[in-house]
Amino acid sequence: MADVYDDDNIFARILRGEIPCKKVYEDTHTLAFDDINPQAPIHTLVIPKGKYVSMKDFTTRASDTELAALLRAVGKVAELKGVHESGYRILANAGVNAHQEVPHLHIHIFGGRALGSMLTSK
Ligand code: 5GP
Repeated sequence: MADVYDDDNIFARILRGEIPCKKVYEDTHTLAFDDINPQAPIHTLVIPKGKYVSMKDFTTRASDTELAALLRAVGKVAELKGVHESGYRILANAGVNAHQEVPHLHIHIFGGRALGSMLTSK
């Protein structure tokens, strides 16, 4: 995937407050909100506030502070959503083969039930 940031992607619009979201957590560098089409009882997205398309884009250009903030937010959100003890899965799709729909880096957090095997199709 070409890491050219689209300012009109849906998460950019959420960050600008143009589209509402069900906010779970926010700090200087990170926003977390529930997925609009949940695939599990708990399905929350954690995104950097900066304009990053993919994990490679983020890890290449982001500051150490931004990098740490995103990871810390994942742990915080797992706790806030009550899945830290019961277990959860994190996932970040990148590019065409992973079916990344929104070209702003996001980490999915799934939980609230037994999640089954890691990948369902071959
Ligand atoms: P991807 O396939 O890019 O990894 O996942 C994109 C995710 O964003 C999907 O799970 C989809 O349901 C979610 N999503 C798309 N549009 C919106 C929206 O407007 N609000 C929220 N909260 N989630 C969205």
